[in-house]
Amino acid sequence: MTTAHAALPHPAPAPDDASTPPLLRVSDLTMTFPGRRRSAPVRAVDGVSFEVAEGETLGLVGESGCGKSTTGRMIVRLLEPTSGSVAYAGRDVTRLSQRALKPLRREMQMVFQDPHSSLNPRQSVARIIADPLLVQGSSAADARARARELMELVGLIPEHIDRYPHEFSGGQAQRIGIARALATGPRLVVADEPVSALDVSVQAQIVNLMERLQRELGLAYLFIAHDLSVVKRVCDRVAVMYLGRIVEVGVKERVYAAPAHPYTRALLSAVPLPDPAAERARERITLLGDPPSPAAPPPGCTFHPRCPKAREICRTEAPLLRVAVPGEAREVACHFPETG
Ligand code: SF4
Repeated sequence: MTTAHAALPHPAPAPDDASTPPLLRVSDLTMTFPGRRRSAPVRAVDGVSFEVAEGETLGLVGESGCGKSTTGRMIVRLLEPTSGSVAYAGRDVTRLSQRALKPLRREMQMVFQDPHSSLNPRQSVARIIADPLLVQGSSAADARARARELMELVGLIPEHIDRYPHEFSGGQAQRIGIARALATGPRLVVADEPVSALDVSVQAQIVNLMERLQRELGLAYLFIAHDLSVVKRVCDRVAVMYLGRIVEVGVKERVYAAPAHPYTRALLSAVPLPDPAAERARERITLLGDPPSPAAPPPGCTFHPRCPKAREICRTEAPLLRVAVPGEAREVACHFPETG
């Protein structure tokens, strides 16, 4: 008998209810890596908080090295946070032992950036997809049958189940990674740059697949990416990270139409527009210099050395993440947010 739970849609989200915890609540999450030799410790993630609702997609965006991937890995406990908490369906999973975490591992899975390097080249597809099920106690026959179902679900040919990763293209390999993530029937998938290693034409296919799977299975995604065009397409809300902190978070439509933080404005001004006339007419905001090292973040607002709007207070006082536009569910960490 095969396990059928992963193909079944999850129940519809409960109506808004303050007593119902969100599917994921990340609170004040911090990760400090020890410095090499005599260098200072690196605070890669610095007090990050956000929520993801059942069936929702939150985009987590920012430049390379801003801490977004480290955040994703802490959520699924591939990395142990230095401090802060991760609550899944109201239950703090941050300090659970690996044994206590095991049943929850079914529910939170991860899709990685580079599909080929995230798949063991010495394992067949059958083994790769079935492994999480075997770990959870399925029989070998059930796990193999389920792996075939999952291959079909993600658009692969089940008869190729005994092939090895190198026999698949990049897009197909990412489908294998997604099938592996779905094997245990998760409700939350942390997707870390899931299309950035793929050709543009293949990216669209994988994004389509992820959207279909979300509709059919009721998945919630934390979609980590640096490509704001991709995030705009897939997410409901977006959180922008800079140097380990969230600087703006809100519903996609508002953040993209009227970014309030100067960093968000700069990132969005670099996204190509499909209309050539609009592309020529729009103002590009060029950021000064490279992002500072997280080992030596600037004082005050860490964005101030690159910010075209920086004033004196920005050099000494770190802005808190707070509601910038009254009545709008959007938070911005800036002393002078754009509110128009
Ligand atoms: Fe720029 Fe100041 Fe706002 Fe920081 S607080 S983003 S430096 S205006």
